[in-house]
Amino acid sequence: MEIYLSNTLSKQKELFKPISEEEIKIYSCGPTVYKDATIGNMRTNIFQDVLRRMLEYNGYKIKQVMNITDVGHLVSDGDEGEDKMIKSAREQHKSPLEIAKHYTELYFQDLEDLNIQMPEIICKATDHIQDMLEYVKELMEKGYAYETSTAIYFDISKLDKYPILSNHNLEEQKAGARVEIDKEKRSPYDFALWIKAPQNHLMKWDSPWGPSYPGWHIECSAMGQKYLGEQFDIHTGGIDLIPTHHENEIAQSKGKCGKIPANYWIHGEYLLINGGKMSKSLGNVYLLKDIKEKGYDPLVYKLFCYSCHYKNKLNFTWEGIEATSKSLERLRNSYQTHLNGEEILDEGDKQQLLELENNFHKAINDDMNMPLALSFVWEVAKFAKKSKDVAKILAKFDTVLGIKIDKEEKSQEIPQEILNLVEERQKARNEKDWEKSDILRDKIQKLGYEVKDTKEGAEIIKI
Ligand code: AMP
Ligand code: ZN
Repeated sequence: MEIYLSNTLSKQKELFKPISEEEIKIYSCGPTVYKDATIGNMRTNIFQDVLRRMLEYNGYKIKQVMNITDVGHLVSDGDEGEDKMIKSAREQHKSPLEIAKHYTELYFQDLEDLNIQMPEIICKATDHIQDMLEYVKELMEKGYAYETSTAIYFDISKLDKYPILSNHNLEEQKAGARVEIDKEKRSPYDFALWIKAPQNHLMKWDSPWGPSYPGWHIECSAMGQKYLGEQFDIHTGGIDLIPTHHENEIAQSKGKCGKIPANYWIHGEYLLINGGKMSKSLGNVYLLKDIKEKGYDPLVYKLFCYSCHYKNKLNFTWEGIEATSKSLERLRNSYQTHLNGEEILDEGDKQQLLELENNFHKAINDDMNMPLALSFVWEVAKFAKKSKDVAKILAKFDTVLGIKIDKEEKSQEIPQEILNLVEERQKARNEKDWEKSDILRDKIQKLGYEVKDTKEGAEIIKI
């Protein structure tokens, strides 16, 4: 079945044509590991996960590379300010290495909690300094870079076209719109490939230009080429990467090999919080940990993300999470009901299910239209006849959804005896018979369960 993807490069939804039918090569820009990843960052990871799962659903093998930025990403996302890693290390009284290790581990934990498939290759910038250095040297030799007293810059005037991904016209941009730190820069849009380290700088390496460190964009060009070649299929990232990071990656690649590195550039939109930006000052920076601490399965957040197309802004609310939590429970329960179902499907049923399967497939292949795909998941889940064959279809859908539809919900694992005792205790509480309620609580506890009284009623936990 044909696959269509929205390509930022052509600004169109295009028929996807892989370079090779053998394997799809994807490069995904990874995190700068200087702070906790937010649920916003995770939205981007979720859309990237759906992309690879959708391609796998279509029978493709995937080679996905993701970088870990542990050097060179300056505070401004441009060429100004301190390195984010060093700033974070200074503030937390740790070494940049410790900071990187700590946040990388937390990031991987989030990916695992969200059942996000790990990329085949995960590569750290600091492990690829030589590859980056060679890349910059070649740009220098080819005349695409120049040295100033502070850095090696990419010379955008040497390109036939810049920018390529974004629509803005540099000529029309007000002169001086960017505050220049380095007066020797030939154009305000030239960007740092390599930065000369001030004395006492924590992360620096020997280079033909003295002790120095890489700029942010060069790592993705160097590692992308090393692991995927000069041209690969898909490059992904959040929408904020378009105007600077991805534009500059393309510039570097065109300078070095005359090619745009990827054929399809796919960008995910932002997650908003209560209709606005997530920001520290508003106190609304949420992490996956916060969702877990409220007692939700983290996969509720993944399912929540499917309520909106990845190219649209998604508004996060706790009400939305609560509602999605119930939906996930219902989906999992219907899976179990079908799994235990014994009804026989007739030809008409089979035809109907085949159509739903086909519709699901079409929806995911149409630029990963998850809201539409979900509507077919629900139709199958609610299928009148309860049968293992229906459960099988749901499990197949879950290879794309990745929400562990076959996980049994807590309430199903709790023995009837406990449920009865809890109900009896609830009755006692309603009648304000606290003594009886406590006796029942102890009895429940002796049987290995704990009852927690929440706003939504009694919660039963296995101890
Ligand atoms: P940051 O840690 O803020 O530099 O973000 C790392 C990457 O995560 C960004 O480049 C974005 O692509 C993505 N990202 C950050 N915030 C959000 C958000 N609110 N919604 C979706 N993606 C985001
Ligand atoms: Zn990148």
